[in-house]
Amino acid sequence: MNIKDKSQLAILKSKINNSQKLVIVPHNNPDGDALGSSLGLYGTLRNMGKEVSVISPNEFPGFLNWMHGVEDVLIFDKQIKKATELIKASELVIFLDFNALSRIKNMQKLFEEDDTPRVMIDHHPFPEANTAELQISVPEASSTCELLFHVLTEIDLKSHITKEAAECIYAGIMTDTGSLNYNSSRPETYLIVADLLKMGIDKDHIHHMIFHNNSFDRMRLLGHALGEKMERIPEFNAAFISLSQEELKRFNFKPGDTEGFVNQALWIEGVKLSAFFSEKSNMIKISFRSRGGFPANKFSELYFNGGGHFNAAGGESKLGLQDTIKRFKLVLKEFCNSYNF
Ligand code: 5GP
Ligand code: MN
Repeated sequence: MNIKDKSQLAILKSKINNSQKLVIVPHNNPDGDALGSSLGLYGTLRNMGKEVSVISPNEFPGFLNWMHGVEDVLIFDKQIKKATELIKASELVIFLDFNALSRIKNMQKLFEEDDTPRVMIDHHPFPEANTAELQISVPEASSTCELLFHVLTEIDLKSHITKEAAECIYAGIMTDTGSLNYNSSRPETYLIVADLLKMGIDKDHIHHMIFHNNSFDRMRLLGHALGEKMERIPEFNAAFISLSQEELKRFNFKPGDTEGFVNQALWIEGVKLSAFFSEKSNMIKISFRSRGGFPANKFSELYFNGGGHFNAAGGESKLGLQDTIKRFKLVLKEFCNSYNF
């Protein structure tokens, strides 16, 4: 893994060693990698005797509830006062799995004004300058969890990683790579997984808790999405699924229930771009996945105020659900014609 500027590691090491009170922040709508890296680092720093808080901008999905330390995670939206006090009192803030302040939504304003030293450790391309004073950005890493493990090793903190923290770190590597399917051709990823296994992680248990512990409602919602709501746009090798608030309510939607739905449409032969539209109370949340040369992040950034990785990105739309889908079809045509996809 290539951390271009090695002096960054020495700076991080001294910042961590010299701070007693630390705050860790994952991105809004934290996924397995964001929460896994946060709790992996949380467990490690606590094991070193530090006072640490994880503050998530909003609620995390139920399938991550098994992670060690989740009960200590503060939800900013629900505990603004306490979270703000902890940030103000901290000596170091660590941002994990995002690279622009806009990715922490309701916490953005606070950090635009806050002057606590902060560090970013992340694997998304194109980091926004001034997100943190120290930005460790490695887009080739499969996940922030993989990068975090590498960084902790490089700054001599590997021996402080507990088995519980290692399980959170493994979970992030696994979820961001689709169980070592995507972005996982670098041998180093497997050397890190081997190290995590040596630390005693229960890999089978983690897979079970994340993938094989679905609610009855979620499985039925998936059936509905695949059977009734999946459409194709053959001329542009695309497919998509959309779900309205009414449909989500009908299946007792809980955060995380639609995780992975966007992959399903990509598994159709010939499909190179898949999209998933989910109607929220004030916007449409969109996920994109692509195969091969279609730049999902560029497409999302251009038309849906989003971004992410080349083959996995997200964005949003303020139009209604049907109008968003209409626009998606139009801009996809425009994009494919102008970039020759
Ligand atoms: P997902 O579709 O799983 O929500 O997100 C896929 C990838 O795109 C993740 O790396 C995530 O961080 C990124 N992403 C999701 N939504 C947004 C967004 O609204 N803005 C940006 N910049 N990135 C996003
Ligand atoms: Mn990630």
